[in-house]
Amino acid sequence: MSYPTFFNPEESYSRSEIEALQLDRLQATVKHCMHSPFYRERFRQAGLTPADIRTLDDLRKIPFTTKQDLRDTYPFGIASVPLDKCVRLHSSSGTTGNPTVILHSQKDLDEWANAVARCLWMVGCRPEDVFQNTSGYGMFTGGLGFQYGAEKVGMLTVPAAAGNTLRQLKFFTDFGTTVVHAIPSYAARLYEVMCEKGIDPRRDTRLRTLVIGAEPHSEDTRKRIEEMLGVKAYNSFGMSEMCGPGVAFECPEQNGMHIWEDYYIVEIVNPDTLEPVPDGEVGELVLTTLKREAMPLLRYRTRDLTRILPGECPCGRHHIRLDRMKGRSDDMIILKGVNIFPIQIETILMQFQELASDYLITLETVDGNDAMTVDVEMKDLSLDDYGKLQSLTREITRQLRDEILITPKVRLVPKNSLPKSEGKAVRVVDTRKKY
Ligand code: AMP
Ligand code: ZN
Repeated sequence: MSYPTFFNPEESYSRSEIEALQLDRLQATVKHCMHSPFYRERFRQAGLTPADIRTLDDLRKIPFTTKQDLRDTYPFGIASVPLDKCVRLHSSSGTTGNPTVILHSQKDLDEWANAVARCLWMVGCRPEDVFQNTSGYGMFTGGLGFQYGAEKVGMLTVPAAAGNTLRQLKFFTDFGTTVVHAIPSYAARLYEVMCEKGIDPRRDTRLRTLVIGAEPHSEDTRKRIEEMLGVKAYNSFGMSEMCGPGVAFECPEQNGMHIWEDYYIVEIVNPDTLEPVPDGEVGELVLTTLKREAMPLLRYRTRDLTRILPGECPCGRHHIRLDRMKGRSDDMIILKGVNIFPIQIETILMQFQELASDYLITLETVDGNDAMTVDVEMKDLSLDDYGKLQSLTREITRQLRDEILITPKVRLVPKNSLPKSEGKAVRVVDTRKKY
């Protein structure tokens, strides 16, 4: 059957068409936000009215919205519609203080499903496909978000939900699953269990496409997963505050994630000065929603660090591309005064073919000093060749030191000896004494 290339006409808009649409939607969003007690007060304090937003650059007059604002107004204080217009909420459990709540109207849910469907369509998902979702359903948006998006594409959906790996594998083979959504750490786990059960993904399944996201992962991790499962793996970025999945997604070029600019205005700012960074430089992603009804967010500081990739994408879409997430500014480790992102460590580790996918970074205080240990699982740990293990450990340590400028203690551990989590992987444990 022949299908159109684009799921929505907006996908193929030129820059000037995108920007014209953005301005219209920004002005409508700002006006709509005046129904929110929070934004009305914010605008009053800033001496602003919706009429002050005449150009896209005027966006910068509007104060930022932060996660703390969401907490301070918990649960419903930012909403721009009465509660009877809302049909669902998603909530993230904050580790400190109030959790955050995002409200959705039916129109919001329809738009969200459309955005996810557009992403899936972009990477070749079609009604003939069978889509299996290994995300937890419930408050985590990767469950329901992908569910409705995949249904909108018209695929047969298998809402397997998280965990129970043997059952996941049975569904792959019994239902002929062709597309899977999994977080990167779980994709690696699926393969391990396939190996244990003698299942060859190329021979025994119809898997073709993997959607991976929700946590930072390196290009080498992606390549490994593709190689293991015999699939093409596409990076998917989203967050509860922006609905969930469907915000930015790789196209078949696999070179940066198109962020849908008819839904969001993108800014990249220096997290300290909050000024825009020069084109192509890494900074904090700030997003303004353009089509949200229940709870629009203006200039929301995501805390995610990334950059806009320069140049046009050969796929023909003009929506800008975000580079792989470098991590969140809150994930940054400060050790002996050096700033380190866990993804820097992963990038080095995953270049070693002898290593499996799971690792754990432990930060401790030893004799009053900061220390880092990196435990990493080996594919096959054989203690017979002690000399080889020693030299591998030395080489990993050397490369890590070159990258992060401090010398961690590296321990090669047997496969499956590190703790596994059902949701996003826990990569850092910090037990340092706080003075
Ligand atoms: P949640 O709202 O719980 O779904 O978490 C959203 C956060 O997950 C984002 O702000 C990012 O920090 C992270 N995240 C989501 N997708 C990706 C991705 N593809 N790569 C890296 N980090 C991601
Ligand atoms: Zn593209």
